Amino acid sequence: MIFELCPEEATFLSRVRQFANEVVLPQTREWEKNTAFAPSIWGQLGEIGLLSMTLPVEKGGIGVSCSAYVEACRELAKADPALSMNVAAINALCVGHIDHFGTPEQQTKYLPGIVKGDIKLAWGLTEPDAGSDARRVRTAATPIADQPGYFHLNGEKMFITNGGNADLIIMVARTSETELSAFLLETNQPGFEIVERIHTIGVSASNTVRFKLDNAVAWHTPCTFEQAIGLLYRGRLGIAAMAVGIAEKAQELALEYSKQREQFNRRLCDMQSVQNMLADNETEIEAARLLLHKGAMLYDRGESVVKISSQAKLYASETANRATNRAIQIHGGRGMTSMYLVEKLWRDAKLTEIGEGCSEIQRMVIAKQALR
Ligand SMILES: Cc1cc2nc3c(=O)[nH]c(=O)nc-3n(C[C@H](O)[C@H](O)[C@H](O)COP(=O)(O)OP(=O)(O)OC[C@H]3O[C@@H](n4cnc5c(N)ncnc54)[C@H](O)[C@@H]3O)c2cc1C
Repeated sequence: MIFELCPEEATFLSRVRQFANEVVLPQTREWEKNTAFAPSIWGQLGEIGLLSMTLPVEKGGIGVSCSAYVEACRELAKADPALSMNVAAINALCVGHIDHFGTPEQQTKYLPGIVKGDIKLAWGLTEPDAGSDARRVRTAATPIADQPGYFHLNGEKMFITNGGNADLIIMVARTSETELSAFLLETNQPGFEIVERIHTIGVSASNTVRFKLDNAVAWHTPCTFEQAIGLLYRGRLGIAAMAVGIAEKAQELALEYSKQREQFNRRLCDMQSVQNMLADNETEIEAARLLLHKGAMLYDRGESVVKISSQAKLYASETANRATNRAIQIHGGRGMTSMYLVEKLWRDAKLTEIGEGCSEIQRMVIAKQALR
């Protein structure tokens, strides 16, 4: 690690590690099979502080550094990548949004329930026709005449993580031909309708949905599009942490298996070709972790993380895909079966190259920064 955590953060992370190993990991296959987390998970996450990492103590959160936040996401990903993805997005994009742009009234109304896991969250940007091109969002926000601060939303959102569980969604919508902003929408209303549960090849326990908004009432959080989207920089560090966790777990399993399995009267780990795969994993994972930690450290120092967060996400996600692929190779045929966790990690890793901006978008951001 290239940063120091304070004693309180170290204690928090040891609790997260214990929770990940003892509670999360044993359930990861069952959650995948059920395409759902255990309902009790939200209260447990709240109790540990995993739903309020980005919220300052004076607002009821545990207010840890970005360094501790990415470490928590990394630990969770080693146990269940889908849960890590949810926790990363909820903290960076949802709680972060209410913390930065919510009015005092909104914060008072929602934060106590959010912190405990009673109010479940999602973040809604993507639409059927607005993916990488996020400015193309068409969901329309129209002020409600006799309700200052409230708008009617009309449109459709797609690929929204935790959207099927969420009580409250942070929604990006268009306020005019040229302007976009963000809103808080309670899902318990007739204007909100889930159209489809989207089943994905990886992170399947995560409740990803497509939904429709038909004159849904939403509360404006005063912010520009750029401000709302700016939360993605810390968010991308969370996804990079998820990717590093996946890669670390795959490498752990590959090392263990290669020491046990014998062919040609020697262990797999004694074969040069297998060692090469292990060495490449080891080196790439170390590099990905360093980028991640540098990004978190810069964020904690208040410096810009526009470039480093894209670099960390890009490199860590591609590392996770390569490392899980090599881990399957080392497991041979068994690696392709559900008896071993590496096939699941390989499927889960794919999301990290797509969510919160695909690799091509990360390369665009990095090149733009380099060419400035
Ligand atoms: C499991 C899951 C969870 C998600 N959770 C959320 C969520 O909680 N909230 C939310 O708002 N969104 C969420 N998303 C959406 C995600 O952010 C988008 O899928 C992603 O940004 C890509 O958008 P798209 O799928 O529309 O792909 P498109 O934008 O259609 O792009 C398809 C492909 O085209 C290429 N491409 C696109 N643009 C360019 C370019 N400019 N240059 C070069 N190549 C390009 C890339 O290879 C890209 O992968 C989630 C997605 C998944 C799969």
